[in-house]
Amino acid sequence: MKAVCWYGNNDVRLESVPDPKILNPRDAIVKITTTAICGSDLHIYDGYIPTMEKGDILGHEFMGEVVELGKAVKNIKVGDRVVVPFPISCGGCFFCKRDLWSLCDNSNPNAWMAEKIMGHSPSGIFGYSHMLGGYAGGQAEYARVPFADVGLLKIPDGLTDEQVVFLTDIFPTGYMAAENCDIQPGDIVAIWGCGPVGQFAIRSAYMLGAERVIAIDRVPERLQMAKDGKAEVLNFEEIDVGEALKEMTGGRGPDAVMDAVGMEAHGMGLEGLYDKAKQAVRLESDRPHVLRQAIVACRKGGTVSIPGVYGGFIDKMPMGAAMNKGLTFKMGQTHVHRYLHLLLERVQNGDIDPSFVITHSLPLEQAPHAYEIFKHKQDSCIKVVLKP
Ligand code: NAD
Ligand code: ZN
Repeated sequence: MKAVCWYGNNDVRLESVPDPKILNPRDAIVKITTTAICGSDLHIYDGYIPTMEKGDILGHEFMGEVVELGKAVKNIKVGDRVVVPFPISCGGCFFCKRDLWSLCDNSNPNAWMAEKIMGHSPSGIFGYSHMLGGYAGGQAEYARVPFADVGLLKIPDGLTDEQVVFLTDIFPTGYMAAENCDIQPGDIVAIWGCGPVGQFAIRSAYMLGAERVIAIDRVPERLQMAKDGKAEVLNFEEIDVGEALKEMTGGRGPDAVMDAVGMEAHGMGLEGLYDKAKQAVRLESDRPHVLRQAIVACRKGGTVSIPGVYGGFIDKMPMGAAMNKGLTFKMGQTHVHRYLHLLLERVQNGDIDPSFVITHSLPLEQAPHAYEIFKHKQDSCIKVVLKP
């Protein structure tokens, strides 16, 4: 089959690779109809995620048709059209049973590696390095899906791939990030980053009752899409974000703040700061970066929600401000399984059509080009789906 493989920083290639096979009775093989590139894939593309090997298949946002099943999978049939959540979760461990799916204890055979590098081990993730399980990803024609009896969401007829594929990741991610803001009636939520995750966070914050959402970015098309989602927008290159937020909230600050940027090189001064030896990311204190700005801007007693992905260490965080303002921090890889049915219902009810975020639909062959335009925000690119 054809698959998008990682070969190094800024180097992904379409390759011919062996088809996946059932390895375990709880596996399924899915023939992929739609897959997407995520901001998290850019962390790999940019070289921030250790333990990638040349030839590794990328991609964790994908859906398609079940073509083969292991003997133990009873709740799904060959021919079913399914969405695959990005975390791989067994459904039976301490964490899965507590609805903490992205922290599954049984899905990462290389947990020791993750523990050594990051000090902890989350669940396995498709196409996301060897320390997170070494699973082949879904930017391919086929993928093997472990624990298919707990992971797969069957899609009813009448919905397009484009309407449901983001249930794999960015819609639940934006939603969980908004839920983590503990939004009360009248609340003002400020969101850094108007990428795909930020866009879903804006809409989710309104769904969960926010009075006003203020969104921050610098890319005009992304700011416009945020406006279309009824956010008030700030361009961080044109104004002092902290001052503007104070002014817009009567001097008090937003009730909740969200970092939907993560390890984005731009605006955070990350270039050259990645410490390969320690596999650590350091943010210098004399450069503006999102998390610090968000902590400082948040009102006393407010909540800091962090869907943006970080790895390694970040130092020089204003912990004094955070402590003395009595802030609550909530973060993590998304527990996608928790939100699948809830958000599918939202789509079916017509509360949201997630396809709004797609700016590019390209054949899988054009993945190298797609990574480039997504990374550099060229050609008005906000979200790319790839068609194998
Ligand atoms: P993206 O790279 O397209 O979006 C990031 C946005 O942040 C860009 O629009 C960029 O212009 C903006 N930005 C950069 N510096 C900024 C600054 N100083 N102030 C405000 N905005 C700034 O990526 P995405 O797909 O939207 O993903 C966003 C983050 O969410 C990434 O870190 C990704 O890894 C993470 N993510 C997390 C999960 C999870 O489970 N928690 C799931 C998916 C994605
Ligand atoms: Zn993703």
